[in-house]
Amino acid sequence: MKIGVLSVQGAVSEHLDHLIRCGVEAVAVKNISMLDEVRGLILPGGESTTIGKLIEIFGLAESIKKRSLEGSLAVFGTCAGMILMARDISDGIDEQPRLGLLDIKVKRNAFGRQRESFETELEFDSFGYPLVGVFIRAPIIEKTGENVEILAKLPEGIIAAKKDNLLTTSFHPELTDDIRVHQYFVEMCKRV
Ligand code: GLN
Repeated sequence: MKIGVLSVQGAVSEHLDHLIRCGVEAVAVKNISMLDEVRGLILPGGESTTIGKLIEIFGLAESIKKRSLEGSLAVFGTCAGMILMARDISDGIDEQPRLGLLDIKVKRNAFGRQRESFETELEFDSFGYPLVGVFIRAPIIEKTGENVEILAKLPEGIIAAKKDNLLTTSFHPELTDDIRVHQYFVEMCKRV
């Protein structure tokens, strides 16, 4: 099974390494023909406005939306990827480009200057032991729509959620050695 990492801007190689460690074929997706080959796609961290503009220009946005909504593509957005997946962005810039795949409302850079970058332990879904989350100018989910499952929270808000073939985390699971979140996504890809 092939799983892609959107590769227009942002932190790509760490996601590819984690996917390879999960035992799948990992590809850096830069164009439509590469996107056509994958069952799952990771939207990495980076700068959400830039990534959003580039995927429109490269013609990738349309296909990601179509395939994920019809259920033939699983999508996992981390950090900036969460912002791209969100239907509502409470403090986004005007006409911020987005995919709008998941019924969540997010706030960008939600942890303020004091906690701009930090690591913390968190409980994630039904994982047997806690996970270390790495947060870098991370967003939070302020509100979730119907049937969106909340997977993890911090006092500031929701930081991981899932619905059907869509998964999102505020933190960067590719930046620790722990591959459980990627394994969780690989299992989701098998079901699409
Ligand atoms: N703050 C960035 C944004 O709004 C996201 C940061 C990240 O992906 N690490 O796009």
